Amino acid sequence: MSAETPVAADRFPRADTGARSTGASASVRPWALWCLVLAPVTIVLHESGHLLAAYAVGFPSPTLHFSSVDPGPSVALPPSAMGLVALAGPIVSALLALLGCTLMARVGPLPWAAALAVCAASRFVVSVPYTLGSLVVRALGKQLAPPVFDEYQAGTAPGVSGDGLLAISALLLAAVLWWVGRRLPRDTTRVAWAGLLGGTAVGWAVWMLGLGPLLLP
Ligand SMILES: [Zn+2]
Repeated sequence: MSAETPVAADRFPRADTGARSTGASASVRPWALWCLVLAPVTIVLHESGHLLAAYAVGFPSPTLHFSSVDPGPSVALPPSAMGLVALAGPIVSALLALLGCTLMARVGPLPWAAALAVCAASRFVVSVPYTLGSLVVRALGKQLAPPVFDEYQAGTAPGVSGDGLLAISALLLAAVLWWVGRRLPRDTTRVAWAGLLGGTAVGWAVWMLGLGPLLLP
């Protein structure tokens, strides 16, 4: 037992094992497969955050869909309650991303921990082009049309800035990717990123275009 390498290091996929082509594909696989599984899971948990918040603020019968929550019959609620429902999804995504980052720091850069961080944070990817576009348009003295993103609604419902919350979520995505990148095993950084980003993109596509509408129409 004492002569063994640490458990976490033992489980890292290695790019330099076996034949070149099969070795590389074997290394990408665990990162990609975990993302394929966890991308849909983090999407459902994000929407479940909206659902629980809708119940909590007083909507009688909200419904969970594959990429949204229908609050049901409208009830008279203050704007802050609507803001809370909009904010609950991004809060869940942020907490899951932080959990993935924390697990990477504690247990090691295992594929499932990195996949959890990247998949959860991928929810904020739309904030990046919006925030950059908004900064350019504002510099020209104009303003973009209000977007439909959660963070914007969460910010504007109580009368605060939606753009500010969107910028924070863009920064959070950048911070998570930086954190994950720093902790990936040096000898497999490229294959790990290929698996993480490719797996997340495919996981999103599989859920949004196939499984999601089938299971949670
Ligand atoms: Zn949402």
